[in-house]
Amino acid sequence: MKKRIAFISEHASPLVTPGSVDAGGQNVYVAELAKQMSRMGYLVDVFTRRESPEMPSVTPWMEDVRVIQIDAGPAKVMAKEELLPYMAAFREEMISFMEEAQVTYHLVHANFFMSALVAMELKQLLGIPFVVTFHALGHVRKMYQGDQDRFPPERIDIESEVILQASQVIAECPQDKEDLVNFYKAPLNKITIIPCGVNLEEVYAVDKAKAREVLHLPAHDKIILQLGRMVPRKGVDNVIRALGHLQMEDVKLVIVGSNVPASSAKADHELERLRTLAGELNVSDQVIFAGQRDRHELKHYYSAADLFITTPWYEPFGITPLEAMACGTPVIGSEVGGIKYSVADGRTGLLVPPRDPVSLAAAIFKLLQDDHLRQEMSSNAIKRIHALFTWECVARKMKYLYQQVINETYYEKSHIY
Ligand code: UDP
Repeated sequence: MKKRIAFISEHASPLVTPGSVDAGGQNVYVAELAKQMSRMGYLVDVFTRRESPEMPSVTPWMEDVRVIQIDAGPAKVMAKEELLPYMAAFREEMISFMEEAQVTYHLVHANFFMSALVAMELKQLLGIPFVVTFHALGHVRKMYQGDQDRFPPERIDIESEVILQASQVIAECPQDKEDLVNFYKAPLNKITIIPCGVNLEEVYAVDKAKAREVLHLPAHDKIILQLGRMVPRKGVDNVIRALGHLQMEDVKLVIVGSNVPASSAKADHELERLRTLAGELNVSDQVIFAGQRDRHELKHYYSAADLFITTPWYEPFGITPLEAMACGTPVIGSEVGGIKYSVADGRTGLLVPPRDPVSLAAAIFKLLQDDHLRQEMSSNAIKRIHALFTWECVARKMKYLYQQVINETYYEKSHIY
């Protein structure tokens, strides 16, 4: 009989298009992992907070994967910083669902600290073991964002308790593991490093000229790409400043991502800030704001670019550098978090210090001048992704982990299999 896994991802639904302030890597992670784990033979239910009254309670999303909307707080999009008070309701609704549907789970995979709080309470009440991927740690966020961090102060205590209660904590990269150990004293035997991946059916190299034609981008200019959520910590302003230092008019910067969908008339304050900066630096003519883009369009953006740039202040993992490399686009990234793990410095791209536009400009200049090096990096990048960072590869590691936890937990309760 197939084993049932419950994913909890309170603010990041696999059904939501990523690219806005609170929809990004975690949505992609949950969607891709749920899909892959179902292919590995599990029945997966993804529990997420209801953000709209219209959504059906249960969406059969794909074979053996369902998405369950949980009523917890107002049925509208809310900032993730405001969701902690609704987690008790989330837990109760989840238990009601399980009772009504007469299902139980062999394992819960919690995503983010609030889902982990729910998972921890389910373990106490129902005895279901859980593993957790934090996606980001409160301690690290506080260090970089200081007063700008609007998460409740209990976050760090919750994370510490979760680490004690979880069967395993999934670190996304060696830096994540170090942070868990240094800031939370997480026991080493509780941490397993499993990175994120790329869906190679969705993101792959297409001919550069064709990609530019599809996107109506200039055929002959050098194109550098920035793609991701538009929040200050992603350092998009750093890329615009580097463009100012470069003083090469034939270099165009394409910025993909927006906090409001293309169809909306609402203002996006972060994009406004970036537009103003580009104006002040006299590079407005070189910057193309492409807005939020659907996943099927991404391969064209990555393939159209000569270089992909991502220079956040910190980065728990960072899926976008993987996506760029899967398309054969060299990456210049800041030497932080998951980026210094996924980008092989000098072989698939270059690493630079964050918040340092002069170093970034020098790195861009170096690679744009050297067609041969870019080509070499391009083929290295594709090889690296295929060898280490596909979702299939991630799912194989995850399956091994799930099996270990399930076997350890249910060793003496063989009747539930
Ligand atoms: N993304 C997207 N459309 C956009 C902008 C971003 O689909 O317009 C996706 C991007 O391709 C990536 C994810 O959002 O898969 C961002 O993940 P990442 O891990 O790089 O950053 P996070 O959101 O976790 O901070």
